Amino acid sequence: MNRSIAKLGTTIFEVMSGLARETGAINLGQGFPDAHGPSELIEAAARALRERSNQYPPMRGLPELRAAIASYYARHQGLDLADEEIVVTSGATEALAACITGLLNPGDEVILVQPLYDAYAPLAELVGAVPRFVSLAPPDWRLPMEALRAAVTPRTRMILLNTPHNPTGSMISAEEFETLAAICVAHDIVLVCDEVWEAMVFDGTRHVSPLAIPALRERSVKIGSAGKIFSLTGWKVGWVCAAAPLAAVIGKAHQFLTFTTPPALQWAVADGLNLPVDWHKAHVQSHADGRARLERCLRDAGYAVLPSSATWFLHVDLPASGISIPDAEFCDRSVREAGVVTIPFSAFYAVEPETRFVRFCFTKPEAVLDEALERLGRFRTSLI
Ligand code: PMP
Ligand code: GLN
Repeated sequence: MNRSIAKLGTTIFEVMSGLARETGAINLGQGFPDAHGPSELIEAAARALRERSNQYPPMRGLPELRAAIASYYARHQGLDLADEEIVVTSGATEALAACITGLLNPGDEVILVQPLYDAYAPLAELVGAVPRFVSLAPPDWRLPMEALRAAVTPRTRMILLNTPHNPTGSMISAEEFETLAAICVAHDIVLVCDEVWEAMVFDGTRHVSPLAIPALRERSVKIGSAGKIFSLTGWKVGWVCAAAPLAAVIGKAHQFLTFTTPPALQWAVADGLNLPVDWHKAHVQSHADGRARLERCLRDAGYAVLPSSATWFLHVDLPASGISIPDAEFCDRSVREAGVVTIPFSAFYAVEPETRFVRFCFTKPEAVLDEALERLGRFRTSLI
């Protein structure tokens, strides 16, 4: 058995959704909307299944999808991407695996920022790379630039960032990217930026990609996911955008990870990306009510909700809510005693876990949120 794989547990998202399936609890844990998904894309996928080829599409993705990705980023983020700078992958998860296997060698160091998406460190370790962790601090979870600078060594080859950030919802600013650019240029480091939540931004905030920063344009890799842009998490269509030499080597990794991604879904995602900007704005707004509702009701129930302007999640500060148990215990008891599944922040740490916060997903119908909040209200009272 592979030693790094054999020692792994099961990802928290599968564990918690498994508990929801087993117990019938309301699932505010794993990030997915209950809604079926935009009909425009479902119809386009059905049409493509019937009318287009169901055989292997080109390895780096359908040319029509690559063109749609370039055009979407030109319209939404002002980026200028060439065809050879785009590789379509089977979800952002495969994109991450392709970046890490394509860009790192055994013994190379990669700086990871905690709390972090749980795939990063295991993927790095799988290729023999060495993760160096720095941590964000509440309540604003900004990048700790000094700690980041101090974590750089002569062996650092990659900084892997996530903006908008899961689970905190914090976002990296253009100024912060400029500071990072100086570090990356000085030490010849590649910046991989997981931007899967780029479209799910609220309160008038704007997502910034490192590809928009001239000093980072040739040394950054942007990862995107149709699952998040279109609320179709099961589709697993993602992509990598990077300067051609980086995209070429990431494409070589991709060829032996999955080689390609189902063509009908690629056609549908291309159609979806080409929908007018107003359609995309309305789609994001379709999640805004659930977000406001969850925030208001959590507050009404006595939970201290931290500020966050992006993703499908809000998080609660347990001690500030008068709750003295750690996050994992809260989540475990919340399933069994309240019938509501949530995600403990400590699952987003590889070392020195923070145990004061719990993540809640708001992309659920009103009635589901109302029922969950009633249960969580009673549960909080039982804890204090
Ligand atoms: N990165 C982050 C930060 C995520 O939250 C997720 C999943 N929600 C992924 C990557 C994986 O995305 P995908 O489902 O497209 O593989
Ligand atoms: N990214 C999703 C979340 O944060 C889960 C993805 C998964 O389950 N692999 O909830």
